[in-house]
Amino acid sequence: MKVPMLDLHAQYDPLMPQIREAMERVYAEHHYIMGPQVKELEEKMAAYLGIKHAIGCASGTDALVLAIKALEIGEGDEVITTSFTFFATASSIWRNFAKPVFVDIDPKTFNLDPLKIEAAITPHTKAIMPVHLFGQCADMEAIMAIAKKHNLKVIEDNAQGIGSTWNGKMSCSFGDIGTLSFFPSKNLGAMGDAGMCLTNDDDLAAKLRQLRVHGENPKYYHKWVGLNSRLDTMQAAILSVKLDALAGWSKARRANAEFYNSHLKDVKGITTPFIDSKAVSIYNQYTLICEKRDELQAYLQSKDIACAVYYPLPLHVQECFSSLGYKNGDLPVAETMASKVLSIPIYPELTLEQKQYICAAIKEFCQK
Ligand SMILES: *Cc1c(COP(=O)(O)O)cnc(C)c1O
Repeated sequence: MKVPMLDLHAQYDPLMPQIREAMERVYAEHHYIMGPQVKELEEKMAAYLGIKHAIGCASGTDALVLAIKALEIGEGDEVITTSFTFFATASSIWRNFAKPVFVDIDPKTFNLDPLKIEAAITPHTKAIMPVHLFGQCADMEAIMAIAKKHNLKVIEDNAQGIGSTWNGKMSCSFGDIGTLSFFPSKNLGAMGDAGMCLTNDDDLAAKLRQLRVHGENPKYYHKWVGLNSRLDTMQAAILSVKLDALAGWSKARRANAEFYNSHLKDVKGITTPFIDSKAVSIYNQYTLICEKRDELQAYLQSKDIACAVYYPLPLHVQECFSSLGYKNGDLPVAETMASKVLSIPIYPELTLEQKQYICAAIKEFCQK
């Protein structure tokens, strides 16, 4: 048996008749940039998430860059974020000439630890940028309380958590702006790059719409230097079809997680994911903490089971950020997790046999 990390054939095959039809419609109209399907998707997504405005853009990374620009955060400003995340979380701050300030994570949820945020606040701090890592919402009540107390903006990097909730409230709806990525491996993926900003604030929404087209409004008049970052009409059409399947996929991912939880919870040498009782995760990843991570990874790979390390090197010690002055030991939880985590396949189309095969292999390794 062979288990990939993600099976896009299994995901797309049932939807291809509708997707082809949607693509044909885009082709028939040749309205490839900002065609009507973009607005259609934005309205559909806003309704799905229960957030007033959705603003499509070219990627999840650009969504973050746009969000920071819209909040007028730049040179001399600091943004508090997590070090245990995908690179774009911090690079988007850097690219706006602001300074990422890394705070350590909670060892159970892998998310920004609210108890460690206040110590990192300085007179230059402008915003907090939590990430809803692996599909589990960060403790947004605690984070919003700190933001309110210190008058800080909040940007939710929700590239991995579309549709996840905290205490019954939708991720992306807590902060000033939330961002999504439709990179093909995210829970809702495009056939290429795409992203989105979400906000309940009318002024921020208007500004984001302007910033994604070079900051122009009206055409050829520029108040700000924005980006060229639109969501392609073709991608919007594809995503619109796929959005109808998202709730079912999230449910299937949770069911897979429950299967793993029940079969792996007592296995020595690994810890199954901790989901806070206030959180409903959409399991973009199912991430184990392993005593012998590298050996387990090699063992699973020898059994044709794909698995992956998200992330092997925390951002505070990445070479490109060396001028920030962080060193190993500064964020011990993130550093420890980087050496212990291993994500196993959790995609919705996994078969029972595949799940059983994965659990058996993990048990075999752990009993050796
Ligand atoms: C995927 C991802 C991004 C970037 O999204 P792209 O669409 O690939 O640009 C940003 N932040 C996190 C946490 C991600 O997982």
